[in-house]
Amino acid sequence: MADQRREQGDGRDLRQDARDVPPGQGRAALPEEARAWEALVATARRTVADGLVVGTSGNVSVRVGDTVLVTPSGVPYDRLGPADITGVALDGRQVLGTLVPTSELPMHLAIHRSTDARAVVHTHAVHATAVSTLVPELPTIHYMSAALGGPVRVAPYATYGSGELAENMLDALDGRTACLLQNHGTMAHGATLDQAYDRTAQLEWMCRLWLTASSVPGLSPNLLTREQLDEVGEKLKGYGQR
Ligand SMILES: [Zn+2]
Repeated sequence: MADQRREQGDGRDLRQDARDVPPGQGRAALPEEARAWEALVATARRTVADGLVVGTSGNVSVRVGDTVLVTPSGVPYDRLGPADITGVALDGRQVLGTLVPTSELPMHLAIHRSTDARAVVHTHAVHATAVSTLVPELPTIHYMSAALGGPVRVAPYATYGSGELAENMLDALDGRTACLLQNHGTMAHGATLDQAYDRTAQLEWMCRLWLTASSVPGLSPNLLTREQLDEVGEKLKGYGQR
């Protein structure tokens, strides 16, 4: 079953070494890993249901201890079940399951290794990806930029799955919880899957807002100043239920 699944998808089975891992390799999942896997699959399905991802083009990860659970490459999310749990150590070594991890594993691991994030969501959301082809930074159209740490940068283009792309992404994420990937998509992280997901949705919404406002002929949108964003950033620190 697992071997059949590896043959599916659009040519993303690039990790020949991983394909050769015999079925049953790896340890059994801990109860907290099984619960986190269930939440990961729910989040991955939500990216498709909400239109942030078409097919299997995005990916999600969540960290439990020193194990990073990740969506496998090329398996539709509605077909993922408890037995498909896929997990790697922080060095990328597979420790759970036999499905090949997402081809964007280097970006996920780069975030898990260098930040205190517990969850990462990557999508090819259409408005965000459109903006990534137009500007080096999302113009400060709305104060929600401050909720992502400041103006959202665009990481320069590099081939998907490459270490170069992971490096460009880390630079763009400096001081931020989200960034755009040029001609590719979005990357957001958070303390929980819900938080990483919400940041992704907010980013896509802001990109849609800017595209909408800047498409009115003869007019260009007013943008917020750095001072205005900083003020919101301070205010957001105390936002929410007390
Ligand atoms: Zn991608």
